[in-house]
Amino acid sequence: MDLPKKSLDDYAPFVGLEEVHEIRTLASYLRGARVQHINSTAVGGGVAELLGTLVPLMRDVGLDARWDVMKGSQAFFEVTKAIHNSLHGAREVLTPEGLKLFWDTTQENLGVLERDADFECIHDPQPLGLVKERGEKARWLWRCHIDLSDADPGTWSFLRQIVERYDGAAFHLPEYAKELSIPQYVAPPAIDPLNEKNTELTQSEITSVLERYQLDPRLPIVMQVSRYDRLKDPVGVIRSYQRAARSHPCQLVLVGGAANDDPEGAQVLAEVQEAAQGDPNIHVLVMAPGTGRDVNALQRAATIVVQKSVREGFGLVVTEAMWKGKPVIGGAVGGIRSQILQGTTGFLVHSVEGTAYRIRQLLGNPDLARQLGANARRYVIENFLPTTYLKRWLLMLLSLRHRPARAVVALGTP
Ligand code: UDP
Repeated sequence: MDLPKKSLDDYAPFVGLEEVHEIRTLASYLRGARVQHINSTAVGGGVAELLGTLVPLMRDVGLDARWDVMKGSQAFFEVTKAIHNSLHGAREVLTPEGLKLFWDTTQENLGVLERDADFECIHDPQPLGLVKERGEKARWLWRCHIDLSDADPGTWSFLRQIVERYDGAAFHLPEYAKELSIPQYVAPPAIDPLNEKNTELTQSEITSVLERYQLDPRLPIVMQVSRYDRLKDPVGVIRSYQRAARSHPCQLVLVGGAANDDPEGAQVLAEVQEAAQGDPNIHVLVMAPGTGRDVNALQRAATIVVQKSVREGFGLVVTEAMWKGKPVIGGAVGGIRSQILQGTTGFLVHSVEGTAYRIRQLLGNPDLARQLGANARRYVIENFLPTTYLKRWLLMLLSLRHRPARAVVALGTP
């Protein structure tokens, strides 16, 4: 895939030059290593965001890194979405036809493997089966971006026998690690402060984006940004806003787009539009790929950011809002819990009522909102920038090269 160039030096203003030098020294032990990342979508969703920064930075520090995307039919992605949902705790049954499609699609994608790779980094379950063709040379890492703590036992036992053919598996949080016969690494992801989604914007650009999307600049904005997916509970966000808005006038902006590997999006969007009907202060926006700068402007215009997920791998969108100094109200699930420290970097919630309560509290107390936002930004700088993420990747690859013993290795989790 064609990717823009990035330089690690450009991150020195956030983390200091010394950190940049340290990472370059670490990377020198991997100079020239051929690293292939494979996932299932080039746009939409957190994994594509991460790879868009990680791969150019790996190149910048001397690795021969590339990113390829596997291909699959709509029916294949329906099967992998069912796998995804059941790893998040939904009870779905993998049918023999579904499994056949999984393996047939894997077979059709074998050509994507770079035969001379030193490291194969496979992201999430869709391309997992590619390991069936593994040779002796490359070390294989499965990078899982999903919360597996409540995974359906049937689905997990199917995946587990494939995962154990890898040399290692990496998870965002310690509680996602599983009973496995291979080494496991724990490393949370990161956001890129320099990409169009997170870079600083002028007030006039933000204002013009508000005008373009016909939002009222005088009304406080409560916002959720995420794919239209039931696990993100967009309808729950609408109910929470409706309760809060009875006493605190505000507008709700739902910003969403579809990922290519998510076939349920259109149906969930229709449910959301129905729930929003009749309230002119609810704006349901459908963003095209490549509108990251608009998403950035909208996030910056928000008074409060909500991420009321009922399941969440990590929740990069929470990190993005925290980076922008926003007070975030997040569902107390998955990786959101490792970002929001209750009452310090935001608020964790468990229900519509709780979300409405926190919206009212923040709308009524701008000083508290500002303080939470400032703490949140500092927390992101300390834990979730690409420099730290790259360092964790380099450590994982170095460790894999030396065929470590079976263990769980935490690479600086917050
Ligand atoms: N995103 C976007 N446009 C949208 C919806 C989401 O650019 O309309 C981005 C969002 O800013 C974030 C990523 O997609 O960078 C979502 O990552 P997250 O980890 O929050 O959730 P996932 O989609 O991976 O479950």
